[in-house]
Amino acid sequence: MEAPSIHLVTSNNSPEFTHLNHALTHSSIIGLDAEWKPNRHASTFPTVSLLQIACRLVDSGDSPVFLLDLQAIHLPSVYELLKEVFVSPDVIKLGFRLKQDLVYLSSTFREQGFDPGFDRVEPYIDINAIYSYLQPKQLGQRVSKQNKSLATICKEVLGILLLKELQCSDWSQRPLTEEQKTYAAADALCLVEIFDVFHKKVVKEGNSLQNRKKYLSSSLDPGLKQVFEISNGCNMITRTKFCEAARMIRITMPELHNSITEEVDPVKSYKITSQVDDTLFWIVRKHGDIILLKDSDRKPKTSRKKAKKSSGGLQCKPKSTETVEDWLGPPPWDPSVGGDGCAKFLCDVMVEGLAKHLRCVGIDAATPHSRKPETRDLIDQAQKEKRVLLTRDAKLLRHEYLISNQIYRMKSLLKNEQLLEVIETFQLKISEDQLMSRCTKCNGRFIQKPLSTEEAVEAAKGFQVIPNCLFNKNLEFWQCMDCNQLYWEGTQYHNAVQKFIDVCKLNE
Ligand SMILES: [Zn+2]
Repeated sequence: MEAPSIHLVTSNNSPEFTHLNHALTHSSIIGLDAEWKPNRHASTFPTVSLLQIACRLVDSGDSPVFLLDLQAIHLPSVYELLKEVFVSPDVIKLGFRLKQDLVYLSSTFREQGFDPGFDRVEPYIDINAIYSYLQPKQLGQRVSKQNKSLATICKEVLGILLLKELQCSDWSQRPLTEEQKTYAAADALCLVEIFDVFHKKVVKEGNSLQNRKKYLSSSLDPGLKQVFEISNGCNMITRTKFCEAARMIRITMPELHNSITEEVDPVKSYKITSQVDDTLFWIVRKHGDIILLKDSDRKPKTSRKKAKKSSGGLQCKPKSTETVEDWLGPPPWDPSVGGDGCAKFLCDVMVEGLAKHLRCVGIDAATPHSRKPETRDLIDQAQKEKRVLLTRDAKLLRHEYLISNQIYRMKSLLKNEQLLEVIETFQLKISEDQLMSRCTKCNGRFIQKPLSTEEAVEAAKGFQVIPNCLFNKNLEFWQCMDCNQLYWEGTQYHNAVQKFIDVCKLNE
């Protein structure tokens, strides 16, 4: 890490403040961190003394770090600025378990009359998420939720040592020592640097993304039509789980965005000039998150279990781990409860697309027997067939008491991400030869032995047309045992296989 240019901002009438303003409007990535005086037995949140903001300037690539001295600066002059940056769709906010910092920061401003403080940061990317992306993944293996310290991540990713002994120093004393300033700046700057490593990896792996785009826009051959029904639009939807469509459009069309902001709110001084490239757009869609503070986050919890556990030792930054899995299992197919080890799902109508995706990677995914099933029918079917019911319907969870380990509420909205969520949650092992091994239309298995063209033509009589262009190609055909649908290898087949290799990250 290069020696950062550090700017201590103590007043809004200073060149440093002007510099900060400029940097915030010319960065698409910022790293955020905060320091406060540790207080162990407080009934209120600690007051944040210092907010560090590392900016990655779009034009020059420089990374100035600003140390916002919240004890000195006139808070009203930074409140609106921060509030706006925190939710600006054009600025990716990086942090390391930033929620805690945001809770304290929000409380610090609230104490000064800025109600309700800060309640949201988006798009946000946690360094933990980046770190787990950077990990080499094994085939189908579940990526365990990492719980490493920022210092460890820094050492692994950047090969640098963050000195941590100042973390518990008195951040409310003034003036800050040079060591404190360097330490504080490094904590924010390393976030931006870790992001760089991640960004480079994403760019390097951009090929498969390009292929996917090309594949989606190409015209479809006949045959394997079902496979494509499920894949159209996956990557085309201008929607993400984190940002509203309008905001995403603003990201892709900065000039439009500027005209929108000017039109809607001419008073606002904050103008977005940063150009967010395609890769950043993709990163936000894929990895972007949002931090939302709820009312319950605004009150210190005096009887927090964590506080009890960590008696003894000065606790600075007791950053909580909020990666609790809500799937407790075991699933009904688990050998520990007498199952055969083969995962089986029932996808309710809200996640029908997911059913087809699961079938494409060879997983048994049934759909309800009727088009508009009663809740009772879904539960019965799941129980009878020993399946886990996948749903996005929160209402169904009310019946959790009936099928405790057989219902799972999907968090992801897009099918590709849903597929990955299922694979990771249920720790499924997907191998390449499982791809396209199941009828996407009905979830049936294929007849073991492939058919020749002649046999296929015979078998298809009356319900499916085999295009003439497939003759004399010596192709193998597979027939579904249940619905008789025929499938064959072709360009689209190979594209589909490639797509699922990418989606399931089988090549990582
Ligand atoms: Zn079938």
